[in-house]
Amino acid sequence: MAIEYSARVARIPVYPAASAYALPEDIALLASNESPDPPLPEVIEAVTRVLGGLNRYPDPTNAQLRGALSGRYGVPAARIAIGNGSCDVLLALGEALLEPGAELVYSWPSFSVYPHLEAASGATGIRVPLDDDHCHDLDAMLAQITVATRLVIVCNPNNPTSTAVSAARIADFVARVPRHVCVLVDEAYCEFSTLDDPDATLELLEQHTNLVLLRTFSKVYGLAGLRVGFALCGSSQVVTAVNQVRQPFFCSAAAQAAAIEALRHQDAVAERVERMVAARVDIDERLRNMGIEPAESQANFCWLGLPGHDGEDAEGVEKMVVEELGRHGVLVRAGSALGRDGWLRVTYGTPAQNDRFLAALGEALAG
Ligand code: PMP
Repeated sequence: MAIEYSARVARIPVYPAASAYALPEDIALLASNESPDPPLPEVIEAVTRVLGGLNRYPDPTNAQLRGALSGRYGVPAARIAIGNGSCDVLLALGEALLEPGAELVYSWPSFSVYPHLEAASGATGIRVPLDDDHCHDLDAMLAQITVATRLVIVCNPNNPTSTAVSAARIADFVARVPRHVCVLVDEAYCEFSTLDDPDATLELLEQHTNLVLLRTFSKVYGLAGLRVGFALCGSSQVVTAVNQVRQPFFCSAAAQAAAIEALRHQDAVAERVERMVAARVDIDERLRNMGIEPAESQANFCWLGLPGHDGEDAEGVEKMVVEELGRHGVLVRAGSALGRDGWLRVTYGTPAQNDRFLAALGEALAG
């Protein structure tokens, strides 16, 4: 007889992992919105230095990392939560806030992990469709907030659609959300946006105790493999709550050391952003020249509708293109796995990878 799992397991969707991990090396990995740049030598040295002490547990209070983040972002260390990737903080926040009868509001399509929050907790998830420009419809989200709402999530820039709303609109939104509702602004890609200073939302934390800004070392800091993220919070009670629902040692010694060192190299962050923005402008123009209209990207990836994406066979076209790109060694994300048939999400990579993607897409569409 098979063992019996909880009802929760039947509800939780299986994460649609990119199928890249068993492939040969010469693959253009454009499916997971990572940085194409390897870690800085100083970061590798910092990790190497902690290896001799791996017989010890890491600092469970993450004191040095929180101190370094406090110095960089001007938020008191007591209001900073660390996680094993920002996803860990996200899931912990869901566990701390949600339960059957509670409601969670987010847009759709958006980050594929948000549906886990309702599935894991038994809360009701309310998905608000993006507007015609693939952007958050903040007024429509506000209209869904009720006395039962515990958490509202705005992914800005939004994964998978790459679009962003301005800091002024976020400020207006947060001011209109009732104070009993936690507002999580997921800013995993904020450094890549040219709409505003990426730190423009920080001052909102001083006025709104219910606000949480979620950030990560996985994208612009280029440390996806080590798993470290953080939340800048309007109140220290959020930090206490997310720590209560997790195991104590959620962030490894290597991850903490790497993150502290990476923070010291803001010049490298700026340089990466500059290169990535140049690639974004170039690729989007080349896509338009091919007759494809990508969404207005403020992130390190683009979201593009394939020819026929609004027709009957959107999924078929998408499948054909993804397979054809795969044959050319280019890995991208199919929109059907992310909430919209006939679309692709493609990370901007190195210049060579970008050329390879565009050439392969041209061939796939010509076929
Ligand atoms: N938020 C968004 C919007 C993301 O796209 C991702 C990664 N794909 C994350 C959070 C989680 O990133 P990590 O756990 O690596 O910090």
